[in-house]
Amino acid sequence: MQPRIGITCDLDLGTGKDFRAPGRPTHVLYDDYVQAVATAGGVPVLLPTATRGDNTASYMQILHGLLIPGSPADVDPACYGEEPHPRLGPVNPRRTSFELAIVRQARAQGLPIFGICGGAQVLNVALGGSLYQDIPSQVSKAYKHSGSPDPSHLVDLVPETRLAAILRVQETRVNSLHHQAIKVPGQEMVISASARDGVIEAVEISSQPFVIGVQWHPERLFADDEASRRLFSAFVQAAATYA
Ligand code: MN
Repeated sequence: MQPRIGITCDLDLGTGKDFRAPGRPTHVLYDDYVQAVATAGGVPVLLPTATRGDNTASYMQILHGLLIPGSPADVDPACYGEEPHPRLGPVNPRRTSFELAIVRQARAQGLPIFGICGGAQVLNVALGGSLYQDIPSQVSKAYKHSGSPDPSHLVDLVPETRLAAILRVQETRVNSLHHQAIKVPGQEMVISASARDGVIEAVEISSQPFVIGVQWHPERLFADDEASRRLFSAFVQAAATYA
């Protein structure tokens, strides 16, 4: 049986920048997430942001894996006990509260979880970690981590982590489209990759088959990058084992 992979959608709040009417929230998801999951052998199940997070237990009955994609919005720093920094971006409370709830539910059930970019940040916050709200103003001598859809900076894999075993390399060059980063990893989480400026680029729970967050976008490199394909394959394989 092919495992069913829940993918949370973005809740576009309807700012009127495209064809949708202003003020009408709309669920959207980039196709490359769907294609990467499907190509790796999973069945994508798109998850809308419910008003409240209290229906997440029902989703667990049909899912074998959970993918949290990136987001144009930041996690409200109140979720990790901080006041907003002046360079904090827009927040999306409905999407964030749903994602925090479903990640915690998935973690409690032992479901494989894959967080990508903003999704890695959500995963980390859901499990009790914190974030840098703005890399350029809070991390001294950091690289430029925003605005590079093509591979830009290197990340070094931490030996003997799940991620290093999956990618089977010591370093890999990744794209970088984030202005925030993980500050303190969440409960049971360890760093599995960092950029050479010290910015954390991946975290995981090593005791679990697949609870991994990566700060880059493997779904955008999928077509040409063996490491990205391995990552999605390992995720879907872990979900198949769970199923
Ligand atoms: Mn980066």
